[in-house]
Amino acid sequence: MAGMLRGILASGASELGIHLDEKQLDAFDIFTSLLLEWNKKFNLTRITNPEEIAIKHHLDSLALLKFVEIPHSSSLIDVGTGAGFPGIPLKIACPELKLKLLDSVRKKLVFLEVVVEKVMLKDVELVHGRAEDIGRVQSYRECFDFVVSRAVARLNVLAELCLPFCRIGGLFVAYKGAHIEEEVEGAQRAIGILGGEKPIINELVIPHSDVRRTLVIVRKCRSTPAAYPRKAGVPERNPL
Ligand code: SAH
Repeated sequence: MAGMLRGILASGASELGIHLDEKQLDAFDIFTSLLLEWNKKFNLTRITNPEEIAIKHHLDSLALLKFVEIPHSSSLIDVGTGAGFPGIPLKIACPELKLKLLDSVRKKLVFLEVVVEKVMLKDVELVHGRAEDIGRVQSYRECFDFVVSRAVARLNVLAELCLPFCRIGGLFVAYKGAHIEEEVEGAQRAIGILGGEKPIINELVIPHSDVRRTLVIVRKCRSTPAAYPRKAGVPERNPL
């Protein structure tokens, strides 16, 4: 079983243009085992089949690398990381990444602490809090090269949670499903207010699956006004 999963990951990654060596495949093995083990006690993911985890979590998380080159020692924050997606797979694939994983639910961070220790990942910081609050903290504001997020909120809301973290010239990347034109259209105004350029839409099918994934990529071109993000809960209740 383990051998088959390694094959799926290695060939899937290679389809995305990424080479994973034996050590990196070991890291994915450990991460997958921990996820399966912890998922028995805590609800971390609805996917419980190892092959599906390899495809719909790990390879899906790596999809970004098909479109964007991440230079050595870039900084990246994963907003609403949950059980570590897409942040942990990106870190395994790009070991030099300076990674921050943000979530408002402490239980998820307890799991991630174990992952970081057992997979022996360096330069990973776990951040507990709401994006609306942490996005106002000076040492997190406008300093990341990349801000990524999957399955957290609609794009108009997500832009307010994510763009404040992004440095000018950096990228905000939202992992979205198929058919998202309307959602992107409805977020253009919010993105503009928050300092983002017009979004670029990139589509792909996740290797070894028929899952269609859309990555919405927004370059930050201007500073986010000090009024944003608004208080926790407001972006969601009253989207820009
Ligand atoms: N990104 C992961 C988890 C998605 S579930 C994945 O794709 O598998 C959404 C996660 O976002 C949850 O863990 C939730 O706690 C977190 N979250 C939602 N709103 C948030 C906010 N405002 N600030 C920080 N985390 C948030």
